Amino acid sequence: MGDIPAREARVHMQMFRRLPLTLVRGEGTRVWDDTGRSYLDFVAGIAVDTLGHGHPGLADTIAHQARTLMHVSNLFYSEPQVALAEILVDHSALDQVFFCNSGAEANEGAIKLARKWGIQHRNGAYEIISTNNSFHGRTLATVAATGTARYREPFGPQLPGFVFVDYDDLDAIKAATTDRTCAVLLEPIQGEGGVNVPAADYLRGVRKWCDEQGILLILDEVQTGCGRTGTLWAYEQAGIEPDIMTLAKGLGGGVPIGAVLSKDHCAVFEPGDHGSTFGGNPLATAAGAYVLQQVIEGGVLQNAVARGEQLERRLAAIEDRSELAAGQRGAGLLRALVLHRDVAGEVVTRALAHGLILNPVRPNTVRFMPPLTVTADEIDQAAAIVEQVLAEIASS
Ligand SMILES: *Cc1c(COP(=O)(O)O)cnc(C)c1O
Repeated sequence: MGDIPAREARVHMQMFRRLPLTLVRGEGTRVWDDTGRSYLDFVAGIAVDTLGHGHPGLADTIAHQARTLMHVSNLFYSEPQVALAEILVDHSALDQVFFCNSGAEANEGAIKLARKWGIQHRNGAYEIISTNNSFHGRTLATVAATGTARYREPFGPQLPGFVFVDYDDLDAIKAATTDRTCAVLLEPIQGEGGVNVPAADYLRGVRKWCDEQGILLILDEVQTGCGRTGTLWAYEQAGIEPDIMTLAKGLGGGVPIGAVLSKDHCAVFEPGDHGSTFGGNPLATAAGAYVLQQVIEGGVLQNAVARGEQLERRLAAIEDRSELAAGQRGAGLLRALVLHRDVAGEVVTRALAHGLILNPVRPNTVRFMPPLTVTADEIDQAAAIVEQVLAEIASS
């Protein structure tokens, strides 16, 4: 194989900050590098590998579908696409589905849907209220919707129509709402922003405000959806329903897929309005259906709840015992440990040396997002490594 990082540096655009690790194989929560070392993977492809690595049932489903019918375009009907849409509609508050291939694409679709709805139903309103520190993707429209200026500023004139307010601040949304507003776009928990959990009544307050004003609530559940936060959809924990919801990441268990879900009342796309060559192809939707079936009926959601509670307890104990740990937050198996100093990068480097893969989501915050199939033993092992690493840094 040669020196993979050197080969990569010659031929791949240099835009990723990669860990010095070439991964070759995985099984469950564990991955192996090209030297034969293994690691507990508490990043799981950024909350993508819902069922862990090398899941035999998912692999068989993909192989079977690939041999049967992989891709036919949306010029035709296909059964796996309908079957996954049925699962999504039957197990959510939403009524209709459009499939695409990523989180950014799902949000692109949601933005187009909300803008068309605004033109048709709210006198041409097109503005979308988004939040600071949000993340909605890397396409030109989704960086315009993302509350992180450095993701959009290098790329010239921006798509107009987005206004930003602080997350977890209902009054700021109220103040930003005008006749031009068609929707509010939120993550139920900000993932890339640092696993920011809003106050318990925030989403309920936003929902009520959107209803009063006659504007749409779009929830970006690309990271929080599909069981990641301990319920199938994070919005369930707030006791509300969005008008539009976007999904991707964990839905395919590693196969690229995204989805826009909409209530009937705002599903205003007509033939020709939007589309995707690959979106909803039999391979990706068969994978998605298998993943959701495992999450909903196969015990994976119950495991995520139990392991999430265990991880919370273990991180709380670390918070009590380590002088470096400042707090922890999250839901289900999307969690973060906040540190008193900006040493998240060092925690990640040292954890790697102990055989644990973590993510430094902020300079002072480490994110945990293992497969939803993670075992109790693996949570204990990971917590022990984190505690050891914090002790090393504290005494260094
Ligand atoms: C990752 C993420 C996206 C973008 O998904 P891609 O598949 O990388 O385009 C959008 N929204 C949220 C909340 C995400 O976490």
